[in-house]
Amino acid sequence: MITKVKSSGYFGIESFSVDVEVDISKGLPAFNIVGLGDTAINESRERIKAGIRNSGYKLEPKRITVNLTPANIKKVGTHFDLPTAVGIMEGYGLIKSRKEILENYIFMGEVSLAGEVKRTQGIVNGAILAKENNCRGIVIPYDNLREGSLIKGIEIVAVKNLKEAVEFLENGNYKKYDVPEEKEIFNEEIDFYDVKGQEKAKRALEICAAGGHNLLMAGTPGSGKTMLAKRITTILPPMTDEEKIEVTKLYSISGKLSETNPVINKRPFRSPHHTSSSTAVIGGGKTPSLGEISLADKGVLFLDEIVEFKKDVLEALREPLEERKVSVTRAVYKAEFPADFIFIGACNPCKCGYAFEDGDLCTCSAGEISRYMKKLSGPILDRIDLKIEIKRLTEDELTGDMPRETSEEIRKRVIRAREIQKKRFGCEKLNGHMTRKDLEKFCRLDEETKAIMKTAVKNLNLSARSFDRVLKAARTISDLAGSRDIKKIHIMEALSYRISEFNI
Ligand SMILES: [Zn+2]
Repeated sequence: MITKVKSSGYFGIESFSVDVEVDISKGLPAFNIVGLGDTAINESRERIKAGIRNSGYKLEPKRITVNLTPANIKKVGTHFDLPTAVGIMEGYGLIKSRKEILENYIFMGEVSLAGEVKRTQGIVNGAILAKENNCRGIVIPYDNLREGSLIKGIEIVAVKNLKEAVEFLENGNYKKYDVPEEKEIFNEEIDFYDVKGQEKAKRALEICAAGGHNLLMAGTPGSGKTMLAKRITTILPPMTDEEKIEVTKLYSISGKLSETNPVINKRPFRSPHHTSSSTAVIGGGKTPSLGEISLADKGVLFLDEIVEFKKDVLEALREPLEERKVSVTRAVYKAEFPADFIFIGACNPCKCGYAFEDGDLCTCSAGEISRYMKKLSGPILDRIDLKIEIKRLTEDELTGDMPRETSEEIRKRVIRAREIQKKRFGCEKLNGHMTRKDLEKFCRLDEETKAIMKTAVKNLNLSARSFDRVLKAARTISDLAGSRDIKKIHIMEALSYRISEFNI
């Protein structure tokens, strides 16, 4: 007789139902797993047998065949251990599972040699699938309890070992472990209050956080670009429950959740090194794996020394910057991943790094300076609304005691500006994502501001795209000021976020 245990698989970020079918027969003792499993699944055989034995059951040598259906889709991960172990114990007649439990619950979890049920990947996916398929619940490792509990409306059965799983299967009983309340873990170690001076950069980051704009910072080495960029996460609004689920799901299938980081409840800040490959940044690989841009979803992607990144990486950023998602096409698959992030690029202004400093610190020739920034392709620059130059602090700024704001104070303004945008668009759309049509509707200018824009187009040689970028930034600046109309002062400020030396 064949025992069937429900489970869930995932490919890229797509989940699908998997039935783990187990057949126990007489004949030459063997243990085969068929149905397109990866190495982890093939290596699970010894683990599962030892786990069952060490839970106090005797396994006579028999012929065990496990089939993961549908057999035509590749399966990855160690979470099929638990349903496989359940199927074997049932098939051997070692346990007597309730029919309604086998039929109404999805099982996921890795089994250790000692018979413990251990943390595994893809639990959020499995829990969502269980809900979509009208299952009553999901049986998961205790270590994944917080992750699974993000999904409301289904029963989450957390087990620490096979014995606890058996108790549930046979009697329907399980321990109701406490799930710690989901509080936002605010990063208290960093705060804008720590940053002296750099008012222009702080303001630019506030505008980016409020309107979902992208930013380029060109500046002298040691002027604090990274320190500034990191702090943007402290002024972004808290994540919504839907955002927490979406991002936790991405981290779960990427194996990036842990005991100290069981769910993602604060906005990610990802900063891949400039030597990173296109697969590492964009995603892809043999089986579709997520890149840094997807791990930055609903948060921030920071590329330091952006001109040093490989050309194909920068080129591949165009689609996600435009669409806020990325499609990865390989010979054997096509996958689409979310990639909705605020982009911050940082670079030196020239090869030696000192082009913006007074005096003759910079040793580059005029030709070298202009060539340096040309490495940043037009299509990338076209998708960056604000550009600023950053200089080292002067002696006065370093020693002075100017009043400084905390991140919490700035964050309040950001949240207010986001509420205005939500009302305007009737959805979570931000000013930085406005289309040409939106611009026409929501960024009407009066005669005075029109005249300023006209002069700017002429004097600064603004392209149509640059014109739109100025309008988007001006819209956010006026939202931050609580102004319904875009006023002269807002346009003037928006126009100031450009690096005139490079005409960008
Ligand atoms: Zn230089």
